Amino acid sequence: MASFDVAVIGLGAMGSAALFELARRGRRAIGIEQFEPGHDKGSSHGESRIIRLSYFEHPSYVPLARRALEKWRELEKLSGETVLTVTGVLEAGFPGCQVVEGSLEASRLHGLEHEVLSADEINRRFPAFKVPSHWTGLYQPDGGFLRPELAIRQFVGLAQRHGAEVRTGTRVLAIEPVGSGVRVTTDAGEIEAGSVIIAAGAWIGDFAPELRPHLKLTRQVLGWFEPLRPASYTPDRCPVFIFESEDDACYGFPDLAGTGVKTASHRKGADLPSANDLAQDGGAEDEAHIRQMLALAMPDANGPLKAMRTCIYTRTPDEDFVIDRSSADPRIVLASPCSGHGFKFASVIGEVLADLALGNESANDISRFRLDRFGAQSA
Ligand SMILES: Cc1cc2nc3c(=O)[nH]c(=O)nc-3n(C[C@H](O)[C@H](O)[C@H](O)COP(=O)(O)OP(=O)(O)OC[C@H]3O[C@@H](n4cnc5c(N)ncnc54)[C@H](O)[C@@H]3O)c2cc1C
Repeated sequence: MASFDVAVIGLGAMGSAALFELARRGRRAIGIEQFEPGHDKGSSHGESRIIRLSYFEHPSYVPLARRALEKWRELEKLSGETVLTVTGVLEAGFPGCQVVEGSLEASRLHGLEHEVLSADEINRRFPAFKVPSHWTGLYQPDGGFLRPELAIRQFVGLAQRHGAEVRTGTRVLAIEPVGSGVRVTTDAGEIEAGSVIIAAGAWIGDFAPELRPHLKLTRQVLGWFEPLRPASYTPDRCPVFIFESEDDACYGFPDLAGTGVKTASHRKGADLPSANDLAQDGGAEDEAHIRQMLALAMPDANGPLKAMRTCIYTRTPDEDFVIDRSSADPRIVLASPCSGHGFKFASVIGEVLADLALGNESANDISRFRLDRFGAQSA
């Protein structure tokens, strides 16, 4: 039976980054992925992901975001390809909304560069937007977007260059602690490893019974729209945006090389019984919902539909991540950083996961992501 220091289950955002960190440290590491890296069946596809430093969800994410930014730049240096484009991020919404107030608090606490803007100032400065007159906004210059599929392939490729073994098209069926380590049973045989990182995204409940009851999968729909005034929506004129109205929050991206303005709801998404139930089935109702926010805050982006895709959020009750050792066995490390905002941290979470799997404590503060906050017990 093949034997490794660490096995990584799932080569999506978190698993690919962890595999890279392990391999560059000279560890015998294997990554196992049921599909191909960069596939469109989980949580990491769809052209772009937002990265931002000021963090409305909670100010304690800011140090992690700063480290993530450094690590994305490192990935670009090592791979020679651009994964991060800085456009600035505009957050706007009704007075007192969480998106603006939360970001303002995080910016002030951590001394982040930011500007508070009135609706009038937003609409004059960015021709892409016509936000309602009672809205306020916060602009942070340091944010932008990442290229998720490219980043994952780069992590996997770099890991292989450092000697990692990669098995794609291989499904993990079971994970079981044994005397000397952990046995991983796949549909193509068994391997043994000193420890295991379960970075299975929306499938993590299959291997983490203590976590399963606390996770909710939702189907999220992304729409790409042809702008009616394309010159207003190029990445040099239109920042990444997050808008909060009285009944939804949505986010979006400028038109990247003619693909269209991508927009999606962050708060709304139908329950998905299991990750295997995701279908690329976006329809008229989904489109109509996304168009409501375009009509409200950026009517010039409300042109013909170019494409629709679906993707999975794996939500925890408090929308914070889970990054911890399993309560069943400390040699099993669980990584469920989604709740719709995990991608930007993948570069640093890779480093965190490698530390945990090698029996070390992380230099990054991950106390917010403990498993026992749900009262989860080992199964
Ligand atoms: C529509 C949408 C928009 C988002 N926008 C943002 C954003 O703007 N900014 C941001 O920071 N975050 C965003 N997120 C969240 C972010 O994309 C996720 O947090 C992140 O991609 C999750 O990565 P992951 O590695 O946990 O999961 P994934 O990337 O899905 O990886 C899990 C992998 O495990 C594999 N796997 C599962 N089970 C098995 C098995 N049994 N055997 C082998 N392999 C297995 C899967 O095939 C998959 O490749 C968004 C998410 C969605 C869905």
